[in-house]
Amino acid sequence: MSRRRTSPPGAPLTSLQVRSLPGQLLAWYDRHRRALPWRALPGEVPDPYRVWLSEIMLQQTTVAAVGPRFQAFLRRWPSINLLAAAPLDDVLHEWQGLGYYARARNLHRCARMVAEQHGGIFPDTEEGLRELPGIGGYTAGAIASIAFGRRASAVDGNVERVVARLYHITEPMPVAKPALRAAAGALVPGERAGDYAQALMDLGATICTPRKPRCLMCPWRGDCRAFAAGDAEALPARVAKKAKPVRHAIAFWVTRPDGTVLLRRRPEDGLLGGMIEVPTTPWREEAWTLEEAAMHAPVAATLITLPGDVRHGFTHFDFIVQVAAARTKRRPKADEIWVKPEDFGSQALPSAVKKMVRHALAHMGR
Ligand code: SF4
Repeated sequence: MSRRRTSPPGAPLTSLQVRSLPGQLLAWYDRHRRALPWRALPGEVPDPYRVWLSEIMLQQTTVAAVGPRFQAFLRRWPSINLLAAAPLDDVLHEWQGLGYYARARNLHRCARMVAEQHGGIFPDTEEGLRELPGIGGYTAGAIASIAFGRRASAVDGNVERVVARLYHITEPMPVAKPALRAAAGALVPGERAGDYAQALMDLGATICTPRKPRCLMCPWRGDCRAFAAGDAEALPARVAKKAKPVRHAIAFWVTRPDGTVLLRRRPEDGLLGGMIEVPTTPWREEAWTLEEAAMHAPVAATLITLPGDVRHGFTHFDFIVQVAAARTKRRPKADEIWVKPEDFGSQALPSAVKKMVRHALAHMGR
């Protein structure tokens, strides 16, 4: 392990430090990069089609869920022109399991536009990419840097977290966003910008995680202001909580091939005692990531987060629930309740759970 000096807390990063940070991260990336199916190997020229396809699939879906779908898409449509020529229904069908079908429609529209208006070649600038359907600021930055080596930054929640900690930016979100963007942009190196973007994604996903960051493994710990201050986990700061606390959960909308949905009975004691509910993670103050929630899922299956969330006000707290859908073919267990949605009327569902049901049906029915 390196014995580099750790910066004192409170001291701003010097320009020399800022210049050396990308190199440190790239050296770490060269040793620890994640092997992902869409990533070019060291020395390979990235294929813009693969980069674009993976970035669209990864919007709102986990790396684990995207892997097999990405491979299946590539096998079926190995080039943008072949994807553009495919019927939309085939694309929507192949998209199954990735959820949020508007993304699949935009994917197909984008493929057609690139094929018909750009000769099958993606624009190589952020501005050009943003003209295409389904490509927003983050995705344009990611593609421009990874596929074309442009000095562009792709700032999502993971990058905001890492940068807030590195610079010790303590303004709460979303006030801090412009400062975080500027700080993230200043770090992007002129060379290996694509590797740098992917390195930052890897650092946020594997080391500088929302909870319990593994600072001792981090290539930036010597300069990281939050590490020096010992408050990394508190950053990025959120707006001060209102008097009424918030609790978060992820509900699991699990369906079987016969159309039934998994429900369960709440414990007799406590809130909503004895009522029927869609299974959820424990309710807690901090929002759940899908990876964390998966440990509480009632079935071992791919989870897809449905867009939006469900909000319900209880007397002493506000409840925010995301709904994750999964399919299973396993046999029902003796203590499980499987009910078709049209029969939910016979179940004792509290209002909060009815909202989850409406939310799930609205999205799953699309
Ligand atoms: Fe994040 Fe810790 Fe690395 Fe700082 S030292 S960037 S808080 S993992």
